[in-house]
Amino acid sequence: MTLPKMNRVLLKLSGEVLMGDQQFGIDPAFVLELAKEVKAAKDTGLEICLVIGGGNIFRGMAGAAQGMDRAQADYMGMLATVMNALAMQSALEQLGVQTRVQSAVQMDQVCEPVIRRRAERHLEKGRIVIFAAGVGAPYFTTDSGAALRAAEMNCDALLKGTSVDGVYDSDPKKNKDAKRYETVSYGKVLADDLKVMDASAVALCRDNDIPIVVFSIREKGNVAKVLSGKGVQTVVTDHTA
Ligand code: UDP
Repeated sequence: MTLPKMNRVLLKLSGEVLMGDQQFGIDPAFVLELAKEVKAAKDTGLEICLVIGGGNIFRGMAGAAQGMDRAQADYMGMLATVMNALAMQSALEQLGVQTRVQSAVQMDQVCEPVIRRRAERHLEKGRIVIFAAGVGAPYFTTDSGAALRAAEMNCDALLKGTSVDGVYDSDPKKNKDAKRYETVSYGKVLADDLKVMDASAVALCRDNDIPIVVFSIREKGNVAKVLSGKGVQTVVTDHTA
């Protein structure tokens, strides 16, 4: 499917992709490679909002499973996303790309708070805005944060870069006959519980008619390829043409 002409996108990266080949944490060399991908996308003339997860450092659910208070663990997860945002900011600025980090949990000494009009101004000036700390509330994920910012910032699409190259009808790591969808509706993703993003994020995109483009960020040059319609991806949308 050909994607509609895009001027502004929200790029969501799971925290896990910042680990590179490590089991945990941040691999600065790998973050720099990711930053090159983001820069390549920006160099095509797009305005870019960026949301990065925190799963490479801490996930609230994992903490809760080990007996921690869930809300407390989720706040720790949010702090992890701020660390990732700062790492990506540093890598992008190493490449000469201007950025601002805006956090949904206020941290004046470290970054700006989320202020939509200010974020608009940054984008107009050609800066990338990295939105950290998800929606700023526990019991949510950065997928919901990404959907929320995509809607709020009037993005033309939500690009979800993960370690899989799209949405499959079953887990491609477990089933070699798993089939990748070219396009799939929001309704099917929700009804079949397909692993794209969590349900609240998918519903928010559906309600605001924001296509979700799922692709692999691990393949070099793939963001630009996906944007030009030549990449391997799945588009979640209710428009089939
Ligand atoms: N989190 C949260 N509220 C938000 C965003 C994130 O509580 O709005 C917490 C939650 O504990 C989550 C963690 O931050 O597990 C890391 O985010 P996420 O799991 O979305 O990261 P990803 O899987 O994308 O790396």
